[in-house]
Amino acid sequence: MRKKIVAGNWKMNTTFQEGIDLAIEINNLVVEKAHKDVIVVVAPPFTHISEVNKAVDNDRIFVAGQNCATENSGAFTGEISAEMLWSAGADFVILGHSERRSYYGETNEKLKIKVAKALEFNLTPIYCVGEVLEEREANKHFEVIKEQIEKVLFDLSEADFEKVVIAYEPVWAIGTGKTASPEQAQEIHKYIRTLLTAKFGDAAKKTSILYGGSCKPSNAKELFANADVDGGLIGGAALSANDFLAIINAF
Ligand code: PEP
Repeated sequence: MRKKIVAGNWKMNTTFQEGIDLAIEINNLVVEKAHKDVIVVVAPPFTHISEVNKAVDNDRIFVAGQNCATENSGAFTGEISAEMLWSAGADFVILGHSERRSYYGETNEKLKIKVAKALEFNLTPIYCVGEVLEEREANKHFEVIKEQIEKVLFDLSEADFEKVVIAYEPVWAIGTGKTASPEQAQEIHKYIRTLLTAKFGDAAKKTSILYGGSCKPSNAKELFANADVDGGLIGGAALSANDFLAIINAF
């Protein structure tokens, strides 16, 4: 059985206290009202991880980093390693978010190393893929996604591959209010699963593939109803505890 996952990416939002307050609010709602079969993840800024982890019920809510370094330790000012995330209480890490790819030069080559680092330190990578608008308009989206999947994941052992979660996030839908239609999401999710099945066989049936891009309470149900959509990576709507809960309960 594939796991249903809803993960909230807080990005660079909330002061420390606002973040703790939001975590407590989300925790109270999730513990009381969320569907029990959905894995809930929150990805606060690095500075909040340890306290957010203490503020939530660790059987119900998992904490994620939003990125990790390619190195384990050393003279890399400003970087946070996978081991540091793990030691602060994180269980997941978002890797390859389009904002990291476009603003911070994260290439597939770098992301391959980051995925390996995450796995080495027992973090579940939520590996993001997705095309920009020009690529979709030029009908290159399949090609782009294929490359993002093959270059980063195809050298993993089957045992490591089984630990990876994938998020399909069409870049034109992130933070824009434009959502991929349920058909567009299913088409790409199915394509990703086909690619993974060709390489990893039946293991790919168990891979959770999340949708991300302006997912909100009003459209989550129709997105999650698709056969290959196993949940969501949520940006803006994850900053409202009520909206986040509504998305979790959209399954
Ligand atoms: C994201 O940044 O991962 C995201 C999906 O953002 P939003 O939901 O705001 O489009």
